[in-house]
Amino acid sequence: MSTQADANMFHLNDNVDALRQEIVQLKAKLAAAATSSSATNAGETNSLQNNMKHHDILIIGAGPTGLGALARLSQQSTSPNCHLIEARDGPGGLAYTTTTKEGFMFDTGGHVIFSHYTFFDELINTAVGGDGPEHWNTLKRVSHVRMNNTWIPYPFQNNLTFLSLEEQETCLLGAIDATAVAATATSKPKDFDEWILRVMGEGIANIFMRPYNFKVWACPPSTMQCSWLGERVATVNAKQLVSDVLHKRAAQQQWGPNAMFRFPTTGGTGQIWKDVANNCCGNKEAQQYDTKVIHVDTNTKQVTIQDLQGQTSIVTYNKMLTTMPLDQFLTLCDNEIKNATIDQWNTNNDMNDKPNENEKETKKNQDDNQEPPIGCVYSSSHIIGLGIRGTHEHGDKCWQYFPDDNCPFYRCTVFTNYSKDHAPNDDVMLPTIINGDGSVPNETASKAGPYWSLMLEVSESKKYKPVNTKKSKESQHLPQVVYDTIIGCMNTGMIKSTDEIVSIHYERLEYGYPTPSLGRDAALEVALPLLKSKDIWSRGRFGAWKYEVANQDHSCMQGVEAIDNMLHGSLETTVSYPSIVNKRGGKNEDIHYEKKMG
Ligand SMILES: Cc1cc2nc3c(=O)[nH]c(=O)nc-3n(C[C@H](O)[C@H](O)[C@H](O)COP(=O)(O)OP(=O)(O)OC[C@H]3O[C@@H](n4cnc5c(N)ncnc54)[C@H](O)[C@@H]3O)c2cc1C
Repeated sequence: MSTQADANMFHLNDNVDALRQEIVQLKAKLAAAATSSSATNAGETNSLQNNMKHHDILIIGAGPTGLGALARLSQQSTSPNCHLIEARDGPGGLAYTTTTKEGFMFDTGGHVIFSHYTFFDELINTAVGGDGPEHWNTLKRVSHVRMNNTWIPYPFQNNLTFLSLEEQETCLLGAIDATAVAATATSKPKDFDEWILRVMGEGIANIFMRPYNFKVWACPPSTMQCSWLGERVATVNAKQLVSDVLHKRAAQQQWGPNAMFRFPTTGGTGQIWKDVANNCCGNKEAQQYDTKVIHVDTNTKQVTIQDLQGQTSIVTYNKMLTTMPLDQFLTLCDNEIKNATIDQWNTNNDMNDKPNENEKETKKNQDDNQEPPIGCVYSSSHIIGLGIRGTHEHGDKCWQYFPDDNCPFYRCTVFTNYSKDHAPNDDVMLPTIINGDGSVPNETASKAGPYWSLMLEVSESKKYKPVNTKKSKESQHLPQVVYDTIIGCMNTGMIKSTDEIVSIHYERLEYGYPTPSLGRDAALEVALPLLKSKDIWSRGRFGAWKYEVANQDHSCMQGVEAIDNMLHGSLETTVSYPSIVNKRGGKNEDIHYEKKMG
């Protein structure tokens, strides 16, 4: 993949992306103008239309959603004429894996498989060749919160035993007060911050929930809604907390749907989706890579596409599934669609705008009187991978959470604990790039392993939480966020000052997390039905913009269910009823994947 091939180059200049985007949009306008001017000449129109390829179903994007859709289409007894267009040079979307030139693998942030669907399990097992231990490592979640140099078992709010006496008192009193307030509340919490206060109280809010959630979401919890929470955030029981603290007990049960999870033995998360694309999606000719959608006319059902050489052509469709970010897709559409959606949001949507001076001062304290921004709010993600020589002392730790200010990342994964495949063999000779304390190594000679790795995630929003990606003062070649991450690893005990870092991976994802903002649902309620009325299904992590159903299994199933809806009119449960598909203690078993032979 081009993005993967670039993985070792630090993306020093984010403006390049913006410039590219502008050029693409200009070309789209030219292509659209060319199409409409050709329509004035009947002869030309006919010849252009004769050259246009037509597809019953056109899919944009080869991430889990698009591939789930193709896999579902390949199960049909008579498969409609379908085609998938993907901008990058391979499948996987955000669920891909990069290999550094030194031989370390890194996913695009912490990806683990914990599925809510039988279909999804059957699909990925078929794709990789089975469900046995030769294909999958099954791991127990060993996660902690790192605070004040202490490892507190996850979830924090159920493990107050590990806090200082003063913090325990603050958290317990807050939780007891909250229980009393919640018992008499007559309305639902108006936002995520109020939900935290009602469910956990002021103490847990101030010590953990507010700082941690700001670090993850890159916006204050008061700007977020709380209907997405479901299985994502553990609640508390004040009596149980008191009892656990008095008995000096850790939480009795492993909480949440990802207490156990699976990970591929080879190739990282990206391998799953390469295998799905190769083994479960029918005719390979239907997948077209290195081709970008640059304009969509929803009335004539014509899509302008562009290849890597800048050549444009037009395809037509009856029905379309788009999985690209909804806000980007809307900007590519004709004016009728833009006027009704994105043009109105831009006036209100401020999350991704730069802050003014006052806002910088008060970035963590949102003004309660502010109107909720309408539209598609998102945060960007910086993914930093470190390949390290030696061995570590983290045991079976998986991913860990970091609310404190002594490091820029909110989450760190000991990635080699998921699979040995993620680091090169011990006998591979590598020089040290930088030491654990950020200093330049004295020795430049290559040395053997063993090796291990860490993968770290830093969130960004232009308004509330900008991230410095310019060259660091301390290190000539590393972006500041990468250098700060290395120092943060040392500050938090993830690496030692003497550790030798032999490989560094860094990439920035413009679209990392779809924020469940206060104005999200109002925007979706206009955009998604409007597109559907034009035979366009916008689905997936950023296509439908619903974080509560934005994991790989959810996204894949949104693609599957969209196809069933197109072909048979069946209900799209995942995108319509997230709380039903996320119900605890079981899988959604209504449909199955069985590969159609021949
Ligand atoms: C940091 C992070 C951590 C995550 N952790 C987990 C986890 O632990 N477990 C889990 O299950 N999931 C996790 N996910 C979510 C997982 O990555 C997504 O569910 C999944 O990738 C979404 O699939 P999608 O197909 O909807 O979208 P994407 O993967 O975003 O795919 C969309 C595709 O559309 C293409 N595209 C965009 N614009 C155009 C265009 N104009 N023309 C043609 N193609 C275009 C893109 O190149 C992309 O390939 C995580 C995601 C992130 C970012």
